[in-house]
Amino acid sequence: MKKDKLKSLDLRYFLVPFSILLILFSIMTFTAINKRVSQKYLSFEQEAINIAEGYSHALVYSHDAHKIVTELLEEKLILALQAISMIENKYDNELLSRIGEQFFIDEIYLYNDNAEIIHSKDGKYIGWKAQEGHPVYNFFKSNERILVEEIRKDSDSDNYLKYAYLKNDDGTFIQIGIKADTVRSFLQRFEFNKLMEELAGRNGIISVMYINNNFEIAASSSPELIGEILTDEVLIDRISQGKIYSSKTTFNDQDAFQGYVPILHEGRVSGVLSIVWSMDEVKAEIKEMVTDGVIAFSVVIFVMSIILYYAYIINKSNIRIAYYDKLTGLPNHEYLFEHLDNEIKNMGNKKKAIFLLNCRNFETLNMTYGFNYGNEILIQIANRVKGIIDPNDRFFRFNADRFVLTIDNYIDRDQLTDIAHRILEIFEHPIMGSVENQYINAEISIVEIHDKGITVDKLLQDAVLALDNLDKNSNEQICFYQDVMEEQIIRQDRIARALRAIIENEEDEQSRLYLHFQPKWCLKNNRLIGFECLSRLYVNELGNIPPIEFIDIAEKRWFIYDLGKLILQKACRFLSKIYDLGFDDIKISVNISVIQLLRDEFVKDLIEIIESSGIDKKSLILEITESIIMENFDLINKKLEKIRRTGILISLDDFGTGFSSLSRLRELNIDYVKIDKYFIDNIREGNDDTLITADIISMSHKVGLKVVAEGVEREDQKKYLERNQCDILQGYLISKPLNEDKAIDFLKNKSIGL
Ligand code: C2E
Ligand code: CA
Ligand code: CA
Repeated sequence: MKKDKLKSLDLRYFLVPFSILLILFSIMTFTAINKRVSQKYLSFEQEAINIAEGYSHALVYSHDAHKIVTELLEEKLILALQAISMIENKYDNELLSRIGEQFFIDEIYLYNDNAEIIHSKDGKYIGWKAQEGHPVYNFFKSNERILVEEIRKDSDSDNYLKYAYLKNDDGTFIQIGIKADTVRSFLQRFEFNKLMEELAGRNGIISVMYINNNFEIAASSSPELIGEILTDEVLIDRISQGKIYSSKTTFNDQDAFQGYVPILHEGRVSGVLSIVWSMDEVKAEIKEMVTDGVIAFSVVIFVMSIILYYAYIINKSNIRIAYYDKLTGLPNHEYLFEHLDNEIKNMGNKKKAIFLLNCRNFETLNMTYGFNYGNEILIQIANRVKGIIDPNDRFFRFNADRFVLTIDNYIDRDQLTDIAHRILEIFEHPIMGSVENQYINAEISIVEIHDKGITVDKLLQDAVLALDNLDKNSNEQICFYQDVMEEQIIRQDRIARALRAIIENEEDEQSRLYLHFQPKWCLKNNRLIGFECLSRLYVNELGNIPPIEFIDIAEKRWFIYDLGKLILQKACRFLSKIYDLGFDDIKISVNISVIQLLRDEFVKDLIEIIESSGIDKKSLILEITESIIMENFDLINKKLEKIRRTGILISLDDFGTGFSSLSRLRELNIDYVKIDKYFIDNIREGNDDTLITADIISMSHKVGLKVVAEGVEREDQKKYLERNQCDILQGYLISKPLNEDKAIDFLKNKSIGL
């Protein structure tokens, strides 16, 4: 099923922009949060590095302190040497150990003047002699009295030691040594302890470490790390270039950030300070930031959804007002125009057609029972048709009692005719109205869309034209549009223009409206008793137009009332002329259309015309077609009663063609029954219809009505009618309709009887 406007509204107008906004806003929120998060990380990183740099400077100062301490250590070693040299009993182990403890000295060796160890603190190496090339030998041979060496590897053990020597005057000398570890730990303790204590105590710092130029963690607030060697090549590469390095890491199962800052001293890297920060605080801040962002995002989306929802509701109701018929809920003519325009444009190879469905008797229904009742009927018609059509076809209310069905894809004309029959079948059952169950007289015109260049306007015009072309008096209910109809509409336009000109100016040079008069013959008195006035129209180029055609045009184009008044005036003028000639018992009959009759001002206008022409009301008969009366029986019967009360007479025209039963004649406010030509044509001895004609006459007589037979052409018909007491004859047998002069001649010659 194709989507209708209301359904397609959801997607096209709201969901799409909503989704776009949602996506855009999500991206914006995401980028904003992301940006803030990375800014946060960046500022944290910057702050961390700044702190680390600050401490690395502090460490430089401590490097100076290191130097001082080294010097102090040297002084201390010398002091220790001097203290030992002053001991009288140098071989007192206990004393030596005490000195060693006091000065943190690990080894003490006493040499003789031959550079041979004669005594040591722990009794080790006694008898060892310094050979040429050995640092001890070098000192032994030098002129120096005191020497403090840099830390070096011991020649016999793998230990690193810092040695100091003192020569006595007798050529003997003392060597003392402090293990490098002892020296370092002493120095490092001095440099870092305070700083590390301070740093590690800062909020958020998990660990602090000092990495020496051998990439070894030489000191740390986390003792388990001391001695670990760095292996990360990138990190080693960076720090050996003296650059700052930082990275995210995990430390003791905790998310952390680790910064490495070189300690530069006099342009040289003398180690790296590394600080490990906990990310907990930053992460908490970021979490808060993200939560705030998500809340703001949700609020905006919520507000946006509400605004869009209301816009959608308003739009929906606007669309309903603009594109849907309030009464039936069907899409309206605006929608129809748009839809058809689209259909024509996107036809492709599909066969498409439109149906125009019209209810013939709807207007009189409206006038009889009122508009509310009419509306009820329309709703039911809409629902019934909707219930049977194909889901691909669309049903619209075009205007008043007209509906349009668009057929999307069909095979051939037979299929279209089948669909039309299916729709018409709906109307075979009466529609349940609140006042009365109603039969609707429906008809359908069909236009197949062949021309892709056709406009919607033309298409609908063709449908209306085809509908007009349906013979109202036949049982035909379906009509296909054919191009010849267009010629017909041009003709109808010309006739309508001529009639309008006539109504405005009475006569026009191009066209002429006049009356012919057909004599009516009284069988009982065998004399002329009146004329039926039959309208004639001559239009230049078109010639004589039959009354059926131009009366129909005048009815459809809503000027029958004015035309009817003009005809009544002409008829009354003719009668007053006859009065003037001395005939005062002649009656004239004038055909009246139902639209004239139903107009409120009809009776008033009628009396005005009669009175201004000075004729007797009893001399005027109004002929009203039976079928029309039967469609709106009560309403018209009331109107007829009103007319008859003025003295004007009523004749029921074309009797037998409508649906009235003979018994209903009694209720009708009429004076004459005019039997339709069909029954007269069928008069033949032995024919069943003949019996009906006789019944009509006797039944009408029983209810006090006079009977007129029209279209009498043959003598045998006259004889039959005479035998069955028919009152009045009219037909070619008596006379064809005559122009005014000939009618008067006829009157003069035949008023005395045939
Ligand atoms: P109608 O009222 O039934 O008029 C009788 C029609 O039968 C007239 O046709 C008349 O010429 C024709 N006719 C009369 N006798 C015979 C006959 O023996 N044989 C044949 N074959 N035809 C006969 P006309 O004048 O063409 O009128 C046709 C219809 O037009 C009328 O039918 C009437 O319904 C309508 N009409 C004519 N004038 C007026 C008018 O002024 N107002 C209205 N509302 N309708 C009119
Ligand atoms: Ca008539
Ligand atoms: Ca008639």
